Amino acid sequence: MTTNGETGGERVHVFGETPESLSEHVAAWGMPRFRARQVLEWVYQRGVIDPALMTNLSKADRALLSERLLFLSGCVVRHQRATDGVQKLLVSWPARQQTGREVGPESGGVRLPVSGVVDDGAMQTECVMIPSENESGGVRKTACISSQAGCPVGCRFCASGLEGLEANLSTGQIVEQVWQLSRMEGVGRISNVVFMGMGEPLSNLAAVTSAIRTLAADWGLGIGARKITVSTVGLPAQIRRLVSLELPITLAISLHAPNDELRRRLIPWAEYVTVEQLLDAGRFYFDQTGREVTLEYILLGGENDREEHARELVVVAKRLRSNVNLIRYNEVEGLPFKRPAKADVLRFQEVLRDAGVNVHIRASRGRDIAAACGQLRYESRGGVSS
Ligand code: SF4
Repeated sequence: MTTNGETGGERVHVFGETPESLSEHVAAWGMPRFRARQVLEWVYQRGVIDPALMTNLSKADRALLSERLLFLSGCVVRHQRATDGVQKLLVSWPARQQTGREVGPESGGVRLPVSGVVDDGAMQTECVMIPSENESGGVRKTACISSQAGCPVGCRFCASGLEGLEANLSTGQIVEQVWQLSRMEGVGRISNVVFMGMGEPLSNLAAVTSAIRTLAADWGLGIGARKITVSTVGLPAQIRRLVSLELPITLAISLHAPNDELRRRLIPWAEYVTVEQLLDAGRFYFDQTGREVTLEYILLGGENDREEHARELVVVAKRLRSNVNLIRYNEVEGLPFKRPAKADVLRFQEVLRDAGVNVHIRASRGRDIAAACGQLRYESRGGVSS
């Protein structure tokens, strides 16, 4: 049994393991296989990551597990707490040699390379916990997590993609972010997960899908798959693959522009994938799974927030039979994009609503901390001055 890059040195990264894979390890170390389930229960059900505190294990096994298992592979280097309860972590990971090949946009069957991958030096990612009120008046706790360090897509308005892709995160690193957020003061059980942090999740599909299985599993974090949203800028072939994996998650397409010309100006990968191709893939997803696709649309002041854009977006949303989430852009220092006026956002929403599209404005949260995706990492590296 290999450790699939989930280790720090020779140690096995617990967050990358399933009961089955971990039982192979513990058996190889001379322990009964059921130790695997016991360890995972301590980690996920009781939040304990120190084998010395796993009191139903023999002393000898606790000592051996301390040597052989790696619990936290990341190190929280900054923790910010906004006045509205949003908490954001900047996590530093030891960089590792990449073994898999990242998947870029596909057009006409041509698979394109993505930007360079580094294999030395620590890498950093961000994750955020966003509390909000749920339908029954309780608290929804949403973890917004990263799937990659950096991002190969390089959307012009986003701090995450400024330096390209550094590395894919492993399954364990993805799961670990949710666990870490759940352990923040006053958080506890995470109810929802969105892959809307750093990275394009469908270009790291294998790690993302196995992380989803752990997040959703009864032995894992027990978050219903329907409460997990994968947000993609649009890789049609990967959307189709996602269907075949039969994970009952929610799919969101980050459209951000209703036509190819504007989209290409904002999203470099739109050069290879047209809105039409995305619509086809989204319709395929809906037809095969019966689950509605959500369109995410970041409103950038003076760029994509005019009435004519709203009318074009109506056509796209109706063809896909999707609902639309509008997100008011949070400005990033050094980037030329502006936060739109509130009145423009409301007017945009009205056009969609009047046309019968189910549309919501996603509240901007945590504005008193570096709220835009990638901003905290960007600031910690000194930002850019231009
Ligand atoms: Fe990547 Fe998303 Fe940022 Fe675009 S918006 S560069 S896809 S992280």
